[in-house]
Amino acid sequence: MSPYHRVYNFSAGPGTLPVPVLEQVRDEMLNQGGSGMSVLEMSHRGGPYDRIHSEAKEDLRALLGIPEGYQILFLAGGASLQFTMVAKSFGTGSYVVTGAWGEKAVETAAIEGDVHVAWKGDRSVPSRGEYEVQGDYVHITTNETIGGVQWKEDPIFDLPLVCDMSSDILSRRVSVDRYSLIYAGAQKNMGPAGATLVVVADDFLKRIPKGLPPMLDYALQAKNDSRYNTPPTFSIYVCGLVYKYLLKNGGLAEAEVRNQRKSGLIYDALDGANRFYKGHAEPSARSTMNLVFTLPNQELTDLFVTQATENGFDGLRGHRSVGGIRASIYNAFPEEGCVALAEFMRDFAQRNG
Ligand SMILES: *Cc1c(COP(=O)(O)O)cnc(C)c1O
Repeated sequence: MSPYHRVYNFSAGPGTLPVPVLEQVRDEMLNQGGSGMSVLEMSHRGGPYDRIHSEAKEDLRALLGIPEGYQILFLAGGASLQFTMVAKSFGTGSYVVTGAWGEKAVETAAIEGDVHVAWKGDRSVPSRGEYEVQGDYVHITTNETIGGVQWKEDPIFDLPLVCDMSSDILSRRVSVDRYSLIYAGAQKNMGPAGATLVVVADDFLKRIPKGLPPMLDYALQAKNDSRYNTPPTFSIYVCGLVYKYLLKNGGLAEAEVRNQRKSGLIYDALDGANRFYKGHAEPSARSTMNLVFTLPNQELTDLFVTQATENGFDGLRGHRSVGGIRASIYNAFPEEGCVALAEFMRDFAQRNG
């Protein structure tokens, strides 16, 4: 039994992290690997940090199956800054918009130049033939964190594919070679806020125009191994521990099975409640990470949140733009929490339906 009282943390981000990782961070807090200092106090050049940095990259390469010919960067500015960096670097994009983050990406890219919206919806993902792409690249959001809409397969386009994978990276296996650039903020499924992961193909880097502001220049960041300036070292360190933890626990194949099972428990409760709950996403695009549903009215929604909180479930209120309930169950969210929520949902529907 943990000495800490931990709630079931359904936060959409920053999200819950594996307890063994948090314990290791605690244990190493004052003396990192015999260095006599905390990673928080350590130079980002040379010495023990070098190892943390290179191991994080190596472990991620193994975990995600990143082939030769791709760079791994840890940048700052969040996934949100990637909206700008992508648009500044690669010309005109075709954006396939499946929710609020895709829309934000479009709005931000439009500041830099022309943008083409190839498809737009917020409950499903399009199939091939439903959109027409043009320009220099395609942009998708593999998992829309607010609406709970997820691409179930790595799609194939005739243009280089750029992808915001912030809220489902490391939740399942991915064919990295389908993508020219993948980016993800750390704080949903990898570690603490601060670092933003970028996985980018070497041949895509060659397209970057000269003369970008240095901090927004992927090629310069790659040349400097993400240390053109001080990177978010603590965040990168914890991400590295999470990569090791996942590698030790069956890698992404196992994570995928666990996430299917965990989300299945809750979707079963949703579907089994005689339409008391209404899923936001179409069943074919339901996210395994962010499960979004509504109740018959606001009063019942409020009651659901109140009673859920009393039962030790935290962070279930949906995003203000969708309302209802959002259960975010990232990799580190325990399966027994999914069992408990499903049971609570059944019981709640029975009492109030
Ligand atoms: C959280 C999130 C973002 C924004 O991330 P920041 O790191 O806060 O900028 C962008 N896209 C998706 C899909 C997200 O879930």
